[in-house]
Amino acid sequence: MQPTIPMSAHRKSSLGAKHLRRVALLLTVCGWLTAAMTLGWTLGLLHLIGWQAAMIPAPGVLAGLLAVWFAGRGRPYLGGAIQCGALYVVVCLTCAFLDQTTDQMPRTTHLFLVPLATGMYMGLRGSPKLWRHGIVAFIFLTFVVLACTALVGEPAHNLPDELRVIGGKANTVAAAVAMYLAMHIMQADVEARNAYEADLREAIRTGQLALHYQPQVDQDGQVLGAEALLRWPHPRRGMISPAEFIPLAEKTGLILPMGDWVLDAACGHLAELSSHPDTAHLTISVNISVHQVREPDFVVKAMAAIERHKVDPQRLKMELTESVFARDMDDLISKMKALKQYGVCFSLDDFGTGYSSLSYLKRLPLDQLKIDQAFVRDLLTQPRDLAIAKTIVDLGTSLNMAVMAEGVETREQRQILENMGCKQFQGYLFGKPMPLAALREQAAQAPPSGPATNPPPGEPDEPRLETPAHA
Ligand code: C2E
Ligand code: MG
Ligand code: MG
Repeated sequence: MQPTIPMSAHRKSSLGAKHLRRVALLLTVCGWLTAAMTLGWTLGLLHLIGWQAAMIPAPGVLAGLLAVWFAGRGRPYLGGAIQCGALYVVVCLTCAFLDQTTDQMPRTTHLFLVPLATGMYMGLRGSPKLWRHGIVAFIFLTFVVLACTALVGEPAHNLPDELRVIGGKANTVAAAVAMYLAMHIMQADVEARNAYEADLREAIRTGQLALHYQPQVDQDGQVLGAEALLRWPHPRRGMISPAEFIPLAEKTGLILPMGDWVLDAACGHLAELSSHPDTAHLTISVNISVHQVREPDFVVKAMAAIERHKVDPQRLKMELTESVFARDMDDLISKMKALKQYGVCFSLDDFGTGYSSLSYLKRLPLDQLKIDQAFVRDLLTQPRDLAIAKTIVDLGTSLNMAVMAEGVETREQRQILENMGCKQFQGYLFGKPMPLAALREQAAQAPPSGPATNPPPGEPDEPRLETPAHA
């Protein structure tokens, strides 16, 4: 998958941001509710029974306030984890010791486990399926046990029935309110996702997507080629970054028509560059999603695009990420070999961030390794990143592969990388992703001696800020 875009990027997306805001709202409301209710119970129990009983709901007060605090500081997931953990313990202990079913009054505290499980289901959306379903199933299992079991703890500790009748009503109302909020958030999430998916489908159908190109340079600053990066100029929301819409395209299968379009458009642009002597030497790198590679007709489609635009296959580079190695290596190798024989080059993108088995390096016909920008970013301050970058350069060199550093933003980073033996660079220092015409202009210029000052670093997911940087 080109690539499975990290959660951090996903959380930055507007869809993710809206979801985050809804989770934060739920957490704030539930946090105040939890703090108020557990405080009421703590004081009541302290007055009526004693400090031992009051200690059972007391942690809920702190957990509720912590949840509100973290939600207000943009960290609802941490707040949610603290609140959910504390709530689970408080509910179970209360059910076991204070709220046991009697002839007069059934147990009600366990009702909170239903909105709790629903909240966890939403909050763990980006987590591995096993975690998500395992935790939610465990909470529901606890609910069933508490609902079907009359007595759990020592009956002598049970609260008086008069108190439990009033508390039971309050518990039921509060659990229903929490469940209603959770349902509302889930529905709003689904609607937002559906609308977004429809927009994306329409964008592909009506050709709203665009390709921008980020220059890739050699040691002398000479443009060697460019990486094709998708952009979505949304009619209402402005320019949208691929970090936002590619995860959705991968989930919905839209990545396949989108990937076909990218390959075709990139070949068309390559033909344009090849027809001009100043730019005829340039290569174009295209990001390929794991879903595209797994398609049975991937090789045929790629060759057809190359044939259609009559371009030199050696000028086309396919960027794969390590996620493609997760499944069916034999199929991948045979497809890569077929395209390699045809002339297409392969680059391993974001190297060092995915499946770190090195055995595939010797089995695959790779031409290039790209050092991920995560290692380049802190080269000057993190000795570990420096060591990893150096190891990648040495590894690539000894395996006879070119090594390109991504995300180079400062001259110092470039210098350190060059000293290590890295000979190819890509990053804001040499130019942000730009339209094809701007790339053509930059490539036709004489190699720069280097910018007088470093360009201000920008965010990769802020394409609106893109300006052709003619270094
Ligand atoms: P990637 O392939 O690793 O692309 C590099 C990303 O780093 C790009 O983000 C680029 O704009 C950004 N970048 C480049 N230089 C710098 C720098 O100096 N500093 C910083 N901070 N960032 C820099 P972008 O364009 O937002 O793309 C994000 C990801 O979306 C890409 O990561 C790629 O995985 C995916 N993507 C983009 N276009 C396509 C496509 O056509 N198909 C597929 N499957 N994935 C794509
Ligand atoms: Mg890439
Ligand atoms: Mg990359």
